[in-house]
Amino acid sequence: MTPLQERLIKIKEQIPEQVNLVAVSKFHPKSALQEAYDVGQRIFGESRVQELIEKQQVLPSDIEWHFIGHLQANKVKYIAPFITLIHAVDSLHLLEEIDKQGRKHNRKIPCLIQIHVAQEEAKFGFYPNEFLAFLNDGQWSNLSYAQIIGVMCMASFTDDTTQVLEEFKLANELFHWAKSTHFSNIPEFKECSWGMSEDYPLAIETGSTLIRIGSSIFGDRQY
Ligand SMILES: *Cc1c(COP(=O)(O)O)cnc(C)c1O
Repeated sequence: MTPLQERLIKIKEQIPEQVNLVAVSKFHPKSALQEAYDVGQRIFGESRVQELIEKQQVLPSDIEWHFIGHLQANKVKYIAPFITLIHAVDSLHLLEEIDKQGRKHNRKIPCLIQIHVAQEEAKFGFYPNEFLAFLNDGQWSNLSYAQIIGVMCMASFTDDTTQVLEEFKLANELFHWAKSTHFSNIPEFKECSWGMSEDYPLAIETGSTLIRIGSSIFGDRQY
């Protein structure tokens, strides 16, 4: 086994069954993804459209590709034919574009709504009050091809585990509020995407179902 494969398997052993591992392979070469694939990894996360497409074209076709970064509406068309999950939907405009492209390809495209729970200022994601307003407004529910199946967040970049835990807990509360008020009849709405290399144990504690781990598997990013 290669060192990469050993790291991956060690992490997998620590993850409970109900949690899925997204191997965040951005900035790593195709050979690294193939190594992970060879020991059974099937979900990969990328954050740039061009890089994702180049990898998708040559790597095995049973890989589930997740887009985890900020997505520009005008690039949705390039990934719409094959993407398994878009993690960071941060506007109605983007959701509508995903819906339009899903319709074109006659496939539902699962999406997560990005909520901004971190202390830090950030450019992307709905603040909690905006998230509530977005769901209460209801325009999202008219879309039949962009399918909201959960929420996603990033914690503050800090060593303060108490703070990170508070942020994940807030995301968890918002998820449960959404589930009970707007998605109680939609069993697909069940995904919580939070937790990265530094904080995934806290994420699992607070109900994450999708952890996104990059550097702990692949090492430092190469370009
Ligand atoms: C890069 C990235 C990750 C993975 O981060 P690591 O610290 O390398 O595990 C997770 N989520 C998002 C949105 C990212 O951009």
